[in-house]
Amino acid sequence: MPSSRSKRPQMTTDAQRWQAIQIRDAGLDGTFYYGTLSTRIYCRPSCASRPARRASVRFFDSTAAADAAGFRPCKRCKPRDNRDPLAVRLEAVAQYIAENASQALPLARLAALAALSPTHFQRVFKAHFGVTPRSYQDGVRLSRLRQELRAGTTVLDAITAAGYSSGSRIYGEAARHLGMTPSTYRAGGARETISYACRDTSLGPLMMAATARGVCFAEFGESPPALLEQLAREFPAATLEPSGQAASPALDAWMQAFARHLDSAAPRPDIPLDLRGTAFQVRVWRFLLGLAAGDVVSYTEVARAIGAPKAVRAAASACGANRIAILIPCHRVLRGDGGLGGYRWGLDRKRALIDRERADARGRSRHARSIAAT
Ligand SMILES: [Zn+2]
Repeated sequence: MPSSRSKRPQMTTDAQRWQAIQIRDAGLDGTFYYGTLSTRIYCRPSCASRPARRASVRFFDSTAAADAAGFRPCKRCKPRDNRDPLAVRLEAVAQYIAENASQALPLARLAALAALSPTHFQRVFKAHFGVTPRSYQDGVRLSRLRQELRAGTTVLDAITAAGYSSGSRIYGEAARHLGMTPSTYRAGGARETISYACRDTSLGPLMMAATARGVCFAEFGESPPALLEQLAREFPAATLEPSGQAASPALDAWMQAFARHLDSAAPRPDIPLDLRGTAFQVRVWRFLLGLAAGDVVSYTEVARAIGAPKAVRAAASACGANRIAILIPCHRVLRGDGGLGGYRWGLDRKRALIDRERADARGRSRHARSIAAT
């Protein structure tokens, strides 16, 4: 401890020093250092590293002496750091949090890194940094998010780079910390308005919603209220407005074109899309936009087509993350063995869509790959 360190005479014998290392005596921290010949690294007596054999240990009275002998300071106990060893440990944990901010970091794991009980750790961490470990982690992610957004990165890429997983729950978390959604934050705080409309289709109730840039949401659901909840979860900070002729004439027209496409196999309507996803997801979705009705591909083929042949699983989750049903035809992607794979809106809908498109394609004598043959 710093207070006792100055009073303590540096007169320990090598035997006493070796003993101190065995018991990791933090009380002697600052009075001497020990270096390990095999690694050329030097430590404080309290270092949690496994003590070396006595024969391979050299003692030093100061870090300068250890440096001069060609040893490097241990990254774990940071012997050059003169401050309170507890503070050093806490800052090592803070460093760990910063480096792993994108993961879930249970308190017990962080406490173990500091060699403290969770409750004790939580208390001393807060005393040292003024915030809980959880808030500290949130702060790291938030500042990364701000940096990315200021650098002009697309909103969802910024969220991903900042260690928030994409998805509405985390989007909401980021929105709460920023005080607004990342996209409105980036746009200088202008609030985003999303118009929506609902109608019945042959595949059940459908809600379509659009920003000024295009359709950002087209999902099937149980009922209009359930769909509205779904939309609010996806865009928690947006102002949601039911579409009326005055508010969004375009959306109404798009909705009708969409329903015609769905119910009578009219050609895919040319509707502008507001794609919101990571760069990878958008690549997958753009590829899917190029698939013709009646075509089916496997997840493996999608991954290969976008130049990421090993990312089959990621390609499958990008398909699953699609929020714009039918228009981005993720229903045309199947498992490699011909199985249906997954579908956000239920396998019955996926099967119905594929069957209908195959029948249409046969009708137009289109050369479609047979699902059964793949
Ligand atoms: Zn060490």
